[in-house]
Amino acid sequence: MLMKQNSPHEWVIKTDAQGKIRAVLIADQQIIDSIKQDGTLKQLSSVAWLPGICEPALAMPDAHQGYGFPIGGVAAFYPETGVISPGGVGYDINCGVRLYRTNLDIQEIKSQQLKLLADALFQNIPAGYGHGKGLKLNQKDLNMVFLKGSAWPISQGMGEISEIDYSEANGRLSPADPEKVSERAKTRGITQLGTLGGGNHFLELARVDEIYQKEAAGAMGLKKGQIVLWLHSGSRGLGHQVCDDYLRLFGSSPEAIHQKDRQLISAPINSRIGQDYLAALGAAANFAFANRQVLAWLARETIQQSLKIGPRDLGLSLVYDVAHNIAKLETHNISGRPTRLLVHRKGATRALGPGHPELPAQYQAVGQPVLLPGDMGRASFVLVGSRKAQEKTFASSAHGAGRRLSRTQAKKLAKNRNLIQELLQSGVQVRCQNPKSLAEEMPQAYKDVHIVAKILDETGIAPMVAKTVPLLVIKG
Ligand code: 5GP
Ligand code: MN
Ligand code: MN
Repeated sequence: MLMKQNSPHEWVIKTDAQGKIRAVLIADQQIIDSIKQDGTLKQLSSVAWLPGICEPALAMPDAHQGYGFPIGGVAAFYPETGVISPGGVGYDINCGVRLYRTNLDIQEIKSQQLKLLADALFQNIPAGYGHGKGLKLNQKDLNMVFLKGSAWPISQGMGEISEIDYSEANGRLSPADPEKVSERAKTRGITQLGTLGGGNHFLELARVDEIYQKEAAGAMGLKKGQIVLWLHSGSRGLGHQVCDDYLRLFGSSPEAIHQKDRQLISAPINSRIGQDYLAALGAAANFAFANRQVLAWLARETIQQSLKIGPRDLGLSLVYDVAHNIAKLETHNISGRPTRLLVHRKGATRALGPGHPELPAQYQAVGQPVLLPGDMGRASFVLVGSRKAQEKTFASSAHGAGRRLSRTQAKKLAKNRNLIQELLQSGVQVRCQNPKSLAEEMPQAYKDVHIVAKILDETGIAPMVAKTVPLLVIKG
């Protein structure tokens, strides 16, 4: 694979005959060595040649091999000439992360209270694979969820209306068309609103351990010792089914564009099938926004009951909600001109810089909070978007530490170990539905998030704001 170092953390993976840069990897040597073990770079190069791409295709420092497109990948396409690809979004449409701050300080919480809280959250937050024990919805409600996103649960009393200002796209994508979602997907989704999902999805209480930038942390209301709530979930079986359905529909559509790698199938954005997928994706993304809204409400009620405190004492307020599996029409500055692009972010997070019109007043001076979960044992980071990201990466950043070991490798490493006990000894209460997924999700299964955060910070793509360390984790 042709690779040229452009700057300390930027590697050119592919240039074309005219010398135009087509694919770029943001990483350091250590990450490159680990990425080289799998198909990430090959996948990235293939993406770089899809029709109508606005170069370059990018991979973030948390990149690893995915279905067709690499995870940690970003690819933007011109609406008139470009394509849309289900593999560029991923199976869990609008999987994403939400971060809440609280008024609680670690000094005020006893370890016995944390244990009871872990039990209560584990009891009240439906988690795990398979059919959910979510809200009881009828078809009409479900259609409203598809159209309104997080505004629907808020309209039912599950959250504050102001929360939509602190969410990417105000918690609602458009276009979104319930008619483009199959009956099978609807049947899977109707019992799953307000469920966490399996394996990698989590709800975590963490403590702010370090502040790197006072102004940005101040704007986000974060301070050392404070307890915060992380939430990672997506569109559950519904989004998975939408992805499955459209991969099949693309497969048999005369409009589709086939590649040597079958997983890279795509269609022109302005084709009928392309537009249908975009509208189904919007509906599934809105389901995911609503799902995180309901989960946060369940967590809020549970924490208040368990700690016997009221909403004011808890002071749960949304720092930000951001998607990391999405394709979305956005305006970017390309060669000095505002240009509409369909940006695929698959395992990548939007990272708008200061002054961007889509940011609420509170973040105008500092930029968008970028949420970078690490793993259940070590740490997670809050970063902030930048103008550099707007210039270099279509305003995108990494979405996590990224996997280092395959699920099979992780299970092997976890054999004969009591992970719950190990984590408890290092101060983390873990509750997990499925012992198998606990092994797959062990901290060592992921790259060290400190390294990913440092690269994003040093490149200026997303400077570090705060680090949190886990106290209590509910895993699917
Ligand atoms: P993905 O959506 O690609 O599965 O995961 C997003 C990121 O979340 C992963 O790359 C990983 O770094 C992080 N992560 C997975 N499990 C946990 C957890 O239990 N706690 C925290 N803080 N981060 C996690
Ligand atoms: Mn997911
Ligand atoms: Mn995810």
